[in-house]
Amino acid sequence: MKLEIDELREFLDQHSDDEIRNAIVAEDFSGLVHLPAGVRQALAGNPDDIWTDIWWYVDIRNEVRLDDFPCLHIAYAASAKAGFLIGQSHGVFAMGSNEKRTEGIVIAFCPWCAKPLNVNARNPLRLA
Ligand SMILES: [Zn+2]
Repeated sequence: MKLEIDELREFLDQHSDDEIRNAIVAEDFSGLVHLPAGVRQALAGNPDDIWTDIWWYVDIRNEVRLDDFPCLHIAYAASAKAGFLIGQSHGVFAMGSNEKRTEGIVIAFCPWCAKPLNVNARNPLRLA
């Protein structure tokens, strides 16, 4: 069972940050009762990097509107939590930019999940 963070958000949002983080640290998801049993079981198997995704999601869920970004990773990297590692300008994402985020290397794919990103400032990506 492949888990995607977007499918887990509505369930995770019924749990506190501490409940979720404690479950990951303890590697015991039985206390996350709002997650369907099958999901809890799949989580325990640590498929791919879903634990990291969940941790990042909990880190930013109250600060960032995830739906404004192509994926969780870009949202996280563009947040204060990640020190604004990735900057955004006119719908284009860039790394290693200067302090004001007016320069940088445009990235065409998410470095974590390889999702294609908009690279043309004249043609901003329509999200969802
Ligand atoms: Zn990604």
